[in-house]
Amino acid sequence: PLTIQAELKTKLKEVFGFGQFRGTQEAVIQNIISGNNTFVIMPTGAGKSLCYQLPALVLPGTAIVISPLIALMKNQVDQMAAFGINAQVYNSTLTKTEQNRVRKDVIAGEVRLLYVAPESLTKDDTIAFLQKASISFVAIDEAHCISEWGHDFRPEYRKIRGIIDNLGGRIPLIALTATATPKVQLDIQKNLHMDDASVFKTSFNRTNLYYEVRAKRNTKKQLIQYVQQHKGKAGIIYCLSRKKVEEVAELLRVNDVRALPYHAGLDPQTRMHNQDAFLNEECDVIVATIAFGMGIDKPDVRFVIHFDAPKSIEGYYQETGRGGRDGLEGNCLMFYSYDDILKLEKFSKDKPVMERDNARQLLLEMTNYSESAVCRRRQLLHYFGEHLDTDCGFCDNCRHPKERYDGTEHVGLALRA
Ligand code: ADP
Ligand code: MG
Repeated sequence: PLTIQAELKTKLKEVFGFGQFRGTQEAVIQNIISGNNTFVIMPTGAGKSLCYQLPALVLPGTAIVISPLIALMKNQVDQMAAFGINAQVYNSTLTKTEQNRVRKDVIAGEVRLLYVAPESLTKDDTIAFLQKASISFVAIDEAHCISEWGHDFRPEYRKIRGIIDNLGGRIPLIALTATATPKVQLDIQKNLHMDDASVFKTSFNRTNLYYEVRAKRNTKKQLIQYVQQHKGKAGIIYCLSRKKVEEVAELLRVNDVRALPYHAGLDPQTRMHNQDAFLNEECDVIVATIAFGMGIDKPDVRFVIHFDAPKSIEGYYQETGRGGRDGLEGNCLMFYSYDDILKLEKFSKDKPVMERDNARQLLLEMTNYSESAVCRRRQLLHYFGEHLDTDCGFCDNCRHPKERYDGTEHVGLALRA
């Protein structure tokens, strides 16, 4: 008989086609197999999915994966199918007949991983069904969605713990996120009652990403130049509004760039089509709102541009993290103007005080980062509670030191007052 260690290694190779575990993957997997609660904090692209996919193959029963986006679930289930693993989705996109089939297969013990949207999870009939299933563990992906201090708060995530308690028996949990600010981390553990969890946190330093911030002047011209310098390479351009997304996509198209838009205002078919076109290299550049990207697994994205300033450092870090997932070149360019910050601040002006103050605080941090002359990586890592001993030498502030931010700094200071 194989030792568990050897069995994991064999499965890694035979099913997923990987020669080695990355970082702490193996330790995480061992911990789950031992039935412990597990909390995984790793940057985007580190390989968190494998941490629950592999144990799901080894343990008896079905692993439940809670995931916030339907596109994200589809992406993973397609991948699993390609590896010959029986993984299924259970959400509102299924017909009654499909739902019945999935239930039957799960109860028969044929399904290794069942991906469930939090909205479906809260339904009575879903709970009744899961009570009949044999569950190996529950994985909560993108667990920062549970926290208001995170950047993608989803109220339904707050109900997860209560629902799991209703399923009967002691079910081990694994929570995974790429958002590691201490506040969010605490919220996740508190909400999921996971104080006892083993925590696996790896460094957030993405050494292959080059960070750069430019003032928003002649932005369109700069953008076209930049994209043409990376001709034929895959890139993501984030814009604040749907309108801007359409405008920029059009601008690129008339300049001979294979670009497509992506935002929540497009009908689902077009959105799916454009996402697939990007993943299949039928287009090079996707111009998108932040609706695009969570969990999208495209390893060779060579540049991520923020055409408008992002809402928070966390969001910015997540979005730039979609570049260079294969460990090769990744260029992160942000166009910054204090006007963008003011625009973003206006979005939250009618929100409850708590929410508004939080949004304001996040924007303030974003402003400080953008206007600072300090090593970008040092600042980003500091934000995630890490310390860099020396400047990175691989960002605009290290490569082209400047006295101070030119132009809008005094306006930014006004917000701080
Ligand atoms: P995350 O969820 O942490 O952002 P993913 O789970 O989407 O990251 O994985 C990112 C990429 O890394 C995927 O293409 C995945 O196939 C790959 N990957 C994961 N683990 C390994 C490994 N041990 N060896 C090689 N590639 C891996
Ligand atoms: Mg992931």
